[in-house]
Amino acid sequence: MTDLEKRQDRSPVPSAFEYASATESRDIVRLEERYSLFVGGEFVEPRSGEFQPTLNPATEEPLAEVAFAGEEDVGVAVQAAREAFENGWSAIRPAERAKYLFRIARILQERSREFAVLESLDGGKPIRESRDVDLPLAAAHFFYYAGWADKLEYAFPNRVPRPLGVAAQVIPWNFPMLMLAWKVAPALAAGNTVVLKPAHTTPLTALLFCDVLRQAEVPPGVVNIVTGDGRAGASLVRHPDVDKVAFTGSTEVGKDIQRAVAGTGKKLTLELGGKAANIIFDDAPLDQAVEGIINGIYFNQGQVCCAGSRLLVQESIYEPVLAKLKRRMATLRVGDPLDKNTDIGAINSKEQLDKITELVAAGEEEGAEIFQPPCRLPERGWFFPPTVFTNVAQSYRIAQEEIFGPVLSVLTFRTPAEAIEKANNTPYGLSAGVWTDKGSRILWMAERLRAGVVWANTYNRFDPGSPFGGYKESGFGREGGRHGLEPYLRFDP
Ligand code: NDP
Repeated sequence: MTDLEKRQDRSPVPSAFEYASATESRDIVRLEERYSLFVGGEFVEPRSGEFQPTLNPATEEPLAEVAFAGEEDVGVAVQAAREAFENGWSAIRPAERAKYLFRIARILQERSREFAVLESLDGGKPIRESRDVDLPLAAAHFFYYAGWADKLEYAFPNRVPRPLGVAAQVIPWNFPMLMLAWKVAPALAAGNTVVLKPAHTTPLTALLFCDVLRQAEVPPGVVNIVTGDGRAGASLVRHPDVDKVAFTGSTEVGKDIQRAVAGTGKKLTLELGGKAANIIFDDAPLDQAVEGIINGIYFNQGQVCCAGSRLLVQESIYEPVLAKLKRRMATLRVGDPLDKNTDIGAINSKEQLDKITELVAAGEEEGAEIFQPPCRLPERGWFFPPTVFTNVAQSYRIAQEEIFGPVLSVLTFRTPAEAIEKANNTPYGLSAGVWTDKGSRILWMAERLRAGVVWANTYNRFDPGSPFGGYKESGFGREGGRHGLEPYLRFDP
């Protein structure tokens, strides 16, 4: 430790920064009392007759009633998508398809504040993130794939790309609008039609997206949104008239879908869980690395499949890194997602909060040491403080299982080889981070890490041009980039 670091270590942790609240107005969002299913370009009553409320996780108050599709509803949506595919969408000039995608991208940019507020209301994520990350990236995905729509033969030279047909897409609640963009944009660019099921806790931005589809004059049936719970998702992926299944969510449901799809000839992409290692070497710029650790695990309350939830610190810098990390954690503000000062918003649902609480209790029972900075949690809503565990053995549940919350486990290593061994000691393989001054070491590590994405001296950085996806239990197939088009195409000989 340098003298400066020793002084910093002894100085008191700032207990609370007082900020006047800077709450984003929710007036820009106009909610309906009830939402039905979006099929064939229109909102239609669910044949199931079932509606359920969607709640604001920061207040536990209902925002609106949303239809829960049954098997029959799913069938009607798939039929609408099939008709749209056969009767035009697959045959229109690719430049025309691009035109619709560009329109969607532009409208998303124009209405991004409305979407960001709604995303934070329904999902609990801080407005700074939905405003500065989710929405700009969602629009960027549509722009990016609009550019490819009329250049598919250049994307895949010497092959003749053709659309598959109807794509069934099931998305989770952690990045509702961004996951919609990741799925819908490449599917349409490749000439497919879509039936998409959002998560039942975060359906509202997908339903607002229906308005964007109309504004962009996308032909009816090209995109259909069926809301509902896991039952609707299960019916959708099993529907016999679906050609392609794309799923993001838990490994457990991913395996179930893989079993259901096996032998049917449907193309499948699975983007599942993760337990990423964020690896800090002793020559890393430590203050920058601490920001990377914070961003890696507390972004979106840690409800991120690629969250840097296992911190691997080289033994010689363990103490200064921990001291800096704890000081930084004490400055994080937990609270109202619509307040622009908020760093950590609400946990998406009561079930998810219970899961986090249970795993944190398991960590304490197994013998890990817990640190949570002093912070006041709001009285209502589902919140969890930023948490770090030290003294963690690799076998502990908190080091093995995906917590999907603002909880970090710290382990140490001495050599690069040991870092690789520990980083790869997980059933998952989605992402990893490496912090070091040496470019050669970054490359050495990246070659050996069994992770689909490796960030160097940064973390949680996304770009539509860069493929994303996993190894092992984190799934297969890539989303983003040219690679993200391939799962939506077949190639004629
Ligand atoms: P799920 O895998 O259950 O949910 C993901 C999506 O799949 C949702 O739209 C869900 O619907 C739907 N679904 C649920 N069951 C089925 C099924 N049998 N067939 C088809 N679709 C289905 O995740 P959870 O919300 O239950 O979260 C549990 C854990 O999964 C989290 O704690 C986290 O560890 C992990 N997870 C990983 C994500 C990632 O980005 N990789 C995202 C979300 C969760 P509905 O939500 O309406 O029930």
